[in-house]
Amino acid sequence: MLATEGYCVKCKAKRQIKGETRVIMKNGRPATRGTCPVCGSKIFRIGGGPGKSVKAKPKAKPKAKPKARRR
Ligand SMILES: [Zn+2]
Repeated sequence: MLATEGYCVKCKAKRQIKGETRVIMKNGRPATRGTCPVCGSKIFRIGGGPGKSVKAKPKAKPKAKPKARRR
């Protein structure tokens, strides 16, 4: 589920953008457009796309316990 946060100027707070739509601005930059779930006013957020590349850290595996112990 997508949950992009944007700044609602009416609420003066960060809100999750409802019905978010990816748009490309005139200068070619990606943005996200949607509505505020609280007041219903438009929210426009610059840089909507997957701009940040999140590196997945390889998790260190915990040592597996031996299932069967020898008696
Ligand atoms: Zn709002």
